[in-house]
Amino acid sequence: MSVDRCSFCGKSSTEVGLLIQGGSAAICDSCTRQAQQVLSMKDPSKSSLSPNSELDTTLSLDKLKKPKEIKSFLDQYVIGQDQAKKQLSIAVYNHYKRLLHNQIVQSTDEDYVVDIEKSNIIMIGETGTGKTLLAKTIARELNVPFCIVDATILTEAGYVGEDVESILSRLLMVADYDVERAEKGIVFIDEIDKIARKSDNPSISRDVSGEGVQQGLLKLLEGSIVNVPPQGGRKHPDQKYIQVNTANILFIAGGAFDGIQDIIESRLNKQAIGFSQEKLEKKEEKDYLFYLDSMDLKKFGLIPELLGRFPVITYLTKLDKETMIRIMTEPKNALMKQFVELFALDGVKLEFSKEGIEQIVEETITKGLGARGLRAITEKKLEDEMFRIGEVDIVKI
Ligand code: ADP
Repeated sequence: MSVDRCSFCGKSSTEVGLLIQGGSAAICDSCTRQAQQVLSMKDPSKSSLSPNSELDTTLSLDKLKKPKEIKSFLDQYVIGQDQAKKQLSIAVYNHYKRLLHNQIVQSTDEDYVVDIEKSNIIMIGETGTGKTLLAKTIARELNVPFCIVDATILTEAGYVGEDVESILSRLLMVADYDVERAEKGIVFIDEIDKIARKSDNPSISRDVSGEGVQQGLLKLLEGSIVNVPPQGGRKHPDQKYIQVNTANILFIAGGAFDGIQDIIESRLNKQAIGFSQEKLEKKEEKDYLFYLDSMDLKKFGLIPELLGRFPVITYLTKLDKETMIRIMTEPKNALMKQFVELFALDGVKLEFSKEGIEQIVEETITKGLGARGLRAITEKKLEDEMFRIGEVDIVKI
């Protein structure tokens, strides 16, 4: 007799990915995964929360890439943004050094040990300047699970939207529900500026998508054991949870923080009164970002508790024409190289002239989408050639 519902969660065969039949019962793919989770938690040798479990058998100080090495890896994919690359490399190196330290500390009997706290990172920069690319590239280099979540979909528990714990559901998913691996992963929280509270003062009315979410994030950021709904979304009482320890998860947040320049400028000018008139002179945008500190982010609407958990603050500068041209041509998987490859598959030689590239870059800059706009403009330019592919042997832009 075939059973058309999961005997555990009750979902019908049309609602699940796979229904495994077994005599008079059946189990769906999602319950199978959860069962596997429960099993690994019951077995202390496999549990990632067990104090004696090794964090990573392959982790050792001499194997750990030094900040300079991490940066040169980033250089292959991310153009410019040297300050951000430098700070990120240091923060990531320190993060993994800290994991090692904790691993050593756990195996000693000393009563007093120095507890190194982790260094989550905030990156500030306009859209398309490479924030996500940086985080993604770092995760690739370290070979750890990586996920991107958009802060705007989160709301305070109990309201329409997703609970903050769903961030960890995504990380679990990319780690194939291997809790131990997920616990060493990197989470990129995008658009963190969109959950700024509406004014610099604590709110009188409830701010469920702003300050409420910031409060919710605190417990994930500081490192605690969190009950995660395996499928994400909203938590409900009779759901089974997976416990995830966030102590070693590195959180990188990014946002455009529109208007932050003015905040920095006004702070600097206030400080300058009575001191040097030089500071009152108009500065370039990137000069202001150079002075960025947590006070400016507080003024923008991030709560001090949250800022306290992001000790590293870095910035990405706006991309100028020259940098955009380099982005188009230099990285390992540069856009130009991708299109040349695409045409080569049909035996067509694609050539970009200097002027052609400049034109694409100039059009992209006027659109204000950062380097993200390069692909769309190039696609448009090559539309006819791609449509008529194979008719000629050489295409010049
Ligand atoms: P955001 O800052 O909005 O997170 P992304 O990192 O998603 O921007 O950038 C979008 C795309 O633009 C990337 O996938 C990459 O192709 C390109 N890009 C942006 N900045 C750079 C950069 N500094 N170096 C190389 N490519 C870049």
